[in-house]
Amino acid sequence: MKIKDIGEFGLIERIHTKAGRSSYPVVIGIGDDASVLDVGPRNQVVTTTDMLVEGVHFLRESTDPFDLGFKSHAVNLSDIAAMGASPAQSFLSFGLPAEMDVETIDTFMDGFLMAGEGVPLSGGDTVASPDKWVISVTVIGLAPSGRVLRRDAAAPGESIWLCGPVGDSAAGLSILLDQTSTVNDQDARFLIQRHNRPLPQVRMGRILLEAGISSCAIDVSDGLLQDLGHICKRSQLGAELDLERIPLSGPIKELAAANVVDPYTWALKGGEDYSLLFTVKPDNEKKLLTVLEREEIEAVPIGRTVPGKGIVVLKNGSPIETGPDGGFDHFRKRP
Ligand code: ADP
Ligand code: MG
Repeated sequence: MKIKDIGEFGLIERIHTKAGRSSYPVVIGIGDDASVLDVGPRNQVVTTTDMLVEGVHFLRESTDPFDLGFKSHAVNLSDIAAMGASPAQSFLSFGLPAEMDVETIDTFMDGFLMAGEGVPLSGGDTVASPDKWVISVTVIGLAPSGRVLRRDAAAPGESIWLCGPVGDSAAGLSILLDQTSTVNDQDARFLIQRHNRPLPQVRMGRILLEAGISSCAIDVSDGLLQDLGHICKRSQLGAELDLERIPLSGPIKELAAANVVDPYTWALKGGEDYSLLFTVKPDNEKKLLTVLEREEIEAVPIGRTVPGKGIVVLKNGSPIETGPDGGFDHFRKRP
């Protein structure tokens, strides 16, 4: 059997089965945005790691090393945000072709450090790579014991909230790949920036945890439908999304109209926005609204969890066909 036959998630499941369930002091192992380790009565240690490979995640000729550094750190910080934890330290490892310019790494580092201001770079590894640039980042965070936001902690009857954009990154990528043409330089720059420098919702995650507003969150890295699907699967429930409540930026609407495409396809299935998706019990909604206003953070309700399974997207109250969730799988080619 080939890896492409089972896909990225099939392979992870296989690895997980082989490794077995994690046991104490590991409280959350494989399967959430980050792992959680018990280290004492006060705090838990939250760890996430992500890898970027030249030719898969970025093209060296067309990627600004500053943006690459920024994004490689931001995507890890986003997984820490999805647990409601506070980032405490980062590790950075490189596989590097020897003929690369040192200045490229200098610029990469400027972006990396900007994305994680205040998070000390505490180690890593540097090795030669025959051909392609490989980047691996690990971020370790801390969270008060027993309170991390988990993918498996939602219950039916909670509202589903989104903090941050969806679709903009995929729309920006479509411009970079010349799949769409733009009418307006400012809109193009905005969408490309959303793709190149995603902003992890660390403050929102931490507030949700500290105020006890939510116990379930995920960051939208693979697409809204796919990532909400992870919450549904792990929490053993279904969800309804109200299409008209999903926020679209001005530039994504402009780009979609100019190219006669449906912006909601980007919003539902496009990846790499690194927004935060979380669920809230009815009793906590008022508290959430108060906190959002006080902290000047924008988040919007876009649907609800329901008993059963699967996600139904409603347009003005009627279910619509959305096709396959379209999320990214490293080894599977999707239609
Ligand atoms: P995310 O998109 O939040 O980074 P992924 O979809 O990459 O999460 O991974 C899903 C889960 O599988 C995570 O808990 C991750 O740590 C775990 N995982 C991925 N690859 C491996 C691997 N090679 N070995 C062990 N666990 C893995
Ligand atoms: Mg994640």
